[in-house]
Amino acid sequence: VRKFFVGGNWKCNGTAEEVKKIVTVLNEAEVPSEDVVEVVVSPPFVFLPVVKGLLRPDFQVAAQNCWVRKGGAFTGEISAEMLVNLGIPWVILGHSERRSLLNESSEFVGDKVAYALSLGLKVIACVGETLQQRESGSTMAVVAAQTKAIAAKVSYWDNVVLAYEPVWAIGTGKVATPAQAQEVHLELRKWLHDNVGAEVAVSTRIIYGGSVNGANCKELAGQPDVDGFLVGGASLKPEFIDIIKSAT
Ligand code: 13P
Repeated sequence: VRKFFVGGNWKCNGTAEEVKKIVTVLNEAEVPSEDVVEVVVSPPFVFLPVVKGLLRPDFQVAAQNCWVRKGGAFTGEISAEMLVNLGIPWVILGHSERRSLLNESSEFVGDKVAYALSLGLKVIACVGETLQQRESGSTMAVVAAQTKAIAAKVSYWDNVVLAYEPVWAIGTGKVATPAQAQEVHLELRKWLHDNVGAEVAVSTRIIYGGSVNGANCKELAGQPDVDGFLVGGASLKPEFIDIIKSAT
């Protein structure tokens, strides 16, 4: 019921030339059909139009952020309306780098998710605990609170993909074990069941992010509640194709 989802978060990387090269590699790749896997790449804002224009039609694009409400006098921000205007279907919200480096609170992230959804955007909403929180045994409390702040503002979940990204695994090479990922994904699904609804719990994709690569993706993908990946570093490399192929 849940189509496998592979997102590539390019973060703040790339030159115009490099971005075109990555798109060429993706366009030439043989991957499972879009009935089997949904592939979404997320370049920095300035490259979104060129990537959208060059990218194969079976892959989609996502922005990495957008403003919390209607656009206007918010210097340096990009509004959800602008993404809609350009035909950008997806946006990543609540990434841990924005939560920690730019002080985005869970409430602010919840507002962003709700506003983006209200304009028809699809949202990859990120949650995840720090190493300190994991070691103190509060992983589930943290991700539940982050999810609750989203659920408080959102009633329609069809256009939401939930990304579990443990902060200690992001960019560190320390991937969660398949058992660690499965445990949190299952708990998140139970949380959705108990707090949102049985139907939403069954149909919402929960994807894993944090040091996913071509070598570790297959075993993670085999976990029953891991419905795909949000890939950082490896999404800039040809091994992203191997990660897409882990859908089958
Ligand atoms: P890495 O795959 O580089 O660890 O990054 C994960 C991530 O933050 C994706 O959003």
